[in-house]
Amino acid sequence: MGMPEDLFDKAVSLLKQAKNNIVLTGAGVSTESGIPDFRGKGGLWSRYDPFEYGTMGSFLAKPEKVWRMLATLLEVVDAQPNEGHHGLAELEQMGLLQGIITQNIDGLHQKGGSRNVVEFHGSLDTFTCLACGAQFGLAAVKDSSLPPCCTVCHSILKPDIVFFDEVIPEKVLTLTEQMLASADLLLVAGTSCQVQPAARIPFMVFNKGGRIIEINKEPALSHIATVTLQGSFSAVMRELVQRLKS
Ligand code: ZN
Repeated sequence: MGMPEDLFDKAVSLLKQAKNNIVLTGAGVSTESGIPDFRGKGGLWSRYDPFEYGTMGSFLAKPEKVWRMLATLLEVVDAQPNEGHHGLAELEQMGLLQGIITQNIDGLHQKGGSRNVVEFHGSLDTFTCLACGAQFGLAAVKDSSLPPCCTVCHSILKPDIVFFDEVIPEKVLTLTEQMLASADLLLVAGTSCQVQPAARIPFMVFNKGGRIIEINKEPALSHIATVTLQGSFSAVMRELVQRLKS
């Protein structure tokens, strides 16, 4: 165990030295909460063709059909945060973490106690009527029959998540840029950084001299990471929090 311990020590000193630590998370941080990686084997996009179910074009053409896929997504909102999510919340409380940018739409960081969270691909917390602009909360949608309809104009509601053919909302990009502006360390957890534009985020930090720490079962950023902690999100976070406290 000599080498892994040294890597944890190195990660701890980097986290303590940096002035502004930000985290970027992806599907891998939620798998231990029972949410399979949408892009992985048996994941959502192996069961539903993303071009038929995951685009704004498909939603506008056949919203009832797209809601068959969205109904399975609504199940993920009952998932519970794991030890890794709680660990990130602890780091924030300790003043060692200034913000989280997540590609996940499951709301688990907030459930786990994190406060400063940017949901890069939106969330299942709110739903918007594309016809009249009215907004509805998750509770209203869960109580209604599917597909849920606007109580004002009866059009089918769309969850405030970013479909594949949509751009990231301006507001979200601004929040992300603000968070990254002073970041001198980025902890990248549970993402293989394959989905643009989120995949650029590690390089934005790296290119201006910031350090990268990667937590992943299958590391993907070894070429730019100062430290790579290979393993499950919850196990790595448990060890990291323990050492940061001692
Ligand atoms: Zn409406």
